Amino acid sequence: MRVLVPVKRVVDYNVKIRVKNDGSGVELANVKMAMNPFDEIAVEEAVRLKEAAGATEVIAVSCGVVECLDTLRTAMAMGADRGILVETATGLEPLAVAKLLKALADKEQPQLIILGKQAIDDDSNQTGQMLAALLGWPQATFASKIVLEGSKVVVIREVDGGLETLSLTLPAVITTDLRLNAPRYVTLPNIMKAKKKPLDVTKPEDLGVDVTPRLKTLKVVEPAKRSSGIKVPDVATLVAKLRNEAKVI
Ligand code: AMP
Repeated sequence: MRVLVPVKRVVDYNVKIRVKNDGSGVELANVKMAMNPFDEIAVEEAVRLKEAAGATEVIAVSCGVVECLDTLRTAMAMGADRGILVETATGLEPLAVAKLLKALADKEQPQLIILGKQAIDDDSNQTGQMLAALLGWPQATFASKIVLEGSKVVVIREVDGGLETLSLTLPAVITTDLRLNAPRYVTLPNIMKAKKKPLDVTKPEDLGVDVTPRLKTLKVVEPAKRSSGIKVPDVATLVAKLRNEAKVI
């Protein structure tokens, strides 16, 4: 069983995001980039499925600039067997990514596609859902447990106030939640080994997909600055301040 894992290159989650002076987006120059954390969880899960002999091949896919090759190498150092870069300098929207992934799924014929539930840069939470719709495959989003059962996959998902268990017929699309697993660290020997793994580069045109943006970003602004807090000497002062200054009681 072949598993496809889309991995996005995003600003590292430890970096404090700065908005560009002209408000057109966030600063990416000289900023540390990394694999989207939910996609690390997706790679880890696919590799565990392979280690448990449920999957036979794990293919990592990234769509974007040539530097996404680093993200693919990380995925391969974690255990993915090969990588595919869909190279484009055009900023990609979730629908464009979903169309590219659909074209690759048609070509590679995976039985399972595991994506992150959302990319931490655009917070869209759309690509997996759109991909499932384009493919006409069943989907389970926000997975916290995945179990292969023959031609089916059982997924437990976290919903408000509890857990939901779904059984999907393969092929299927799954998106990962934070508690699915704890991704392994990439070791130096595995980074070296990953260098020998196959890595293909293709372009949206080769896949027959038009990735022209359909949305226009009007403005990006920093969140409002929070004023600093004060210490109050006693409860009476706190209540007085809440009543007379904050006017919340
Ligand atoms: P989003 O819908 O943008 O929040 O992204 C959800 C998931 O789709 C991510 O966690 C990735 O698994 C996948 N994805 C989104 N954009 C890309 C991309 N440019 N390349 C590869 N995978 C992507």
